[in-house]
Amino acid sequence: MTRQSNEKLVEVKNLKKYFRLSRNQYVKAVDNVTFDIKQGETFGLVGESGCGKSTTGRTIIRLYDATDGQVIFDGKDVHQLNRKEMFDFNKDVQMIFQDPYASLNPRMTVEDIIAEGLDIHGLVANQKERRDRVVELLETVGLNKDHAVRFPHEFSGGQRQRIGIARALALDPKFIIADEPISALDVSIQAQVVNLLKQLQQDKGLTYLFIAHDISMVKYISDRIGVMYLGNLVEMTESEKLIEDPLHPYTQALLSAVPIADPHTERSRERIILKGDVPSPIDPPSGCRFRTRCAHAKPECAEIVPEWKEVHKGHWVACHLY
Ligand code: SF4
Repeated sequence: MTRQSNEKLVEVKNLKKYFRLSRNQYVKAVDNVTFDIKQGETFGLVGESGCGKSTTGRTIIRLYDATDGQVIFDGKDVHQLNRKEMFDFNKDVQMIFQDPYASLNPRMTVEDIIAEGLDIHGLVANQKERRDRVVELLETVGLNKDHAVRFPHEFSGGQRQRIGIARALALDPKFIIADEPISALDVSIQAQVVNLLKQLQQDKGLTYLFIAHDISMVKYISDRIGVMYLGNLVEMTESEKLIEDPLHPYTQALLSAVPIADPHTERSRERIILKGDVPSPIDPPSGCRFRTRCAHAKPECAEIVPEWKEVHKGHWVACHLY
């Protein structure tokens, strides 16, 4: 487990991000999402593709402006930062992207990719210092100094993601948003990258937002998990509690799709098959957004938006069953 403190590093309050399609049509990608991340914690955000988890991450780091709500980082409202504060924020908060193939500039050497942030922030005095820092970062992520002069196409997917991690570490950030960092990698490489992220967290006291659609990997790395569905958070609690006692029917369905290593348990358990696709975020269902796919839906689910409630200490859920 990680060295956590009770101090909140990130507070996301009633965050909304709508994308305008026409005069009165909006994609409600993130709609009233609230959670916080403590210093040294890994918070996992999980849900199917299109649920708004990546948009949440990108709005936290201000790649998108928020439509409404607040993101507080280290006590300051991210969306109200002035230019100088934004410069510092860009040093403290880094992102690791999903696709290591697309996120590295193919025309730059590995050294230039990793050192770009160091150059922008004026953190190295000369070429020797720059090279030494890049080599140190390469070694931290399990690569070596000979890799510095090469180009991204000369590396495997797992190695490219290691370069992406070295780039994110270059500025000694406090907080890293890892947006589907392992989805594009072979299964055999995924665990290596996750273990590297865990090790770096131990060594450097990092705080992570780990975004993924695969709940089995999220549960392995996260201290707490938030489950998103169609722009809303539907459940949030500690990872172990979520796995042992999932409350929301959507979380139960996601977990029932994860294979269990024990063949006896695997054969005897019941799978919950979700009907249909995720509805459009342009015109989401009334009441509970999950009701069109929920086996427990009752009439009030179409009428009333379920309240976001703390049903046990630290265990939040939005569902009329509780
Ligand atoms: Fe299902 Fe109703 Fe709960 Fe929504 S509020 S998850 S439709 S039971």
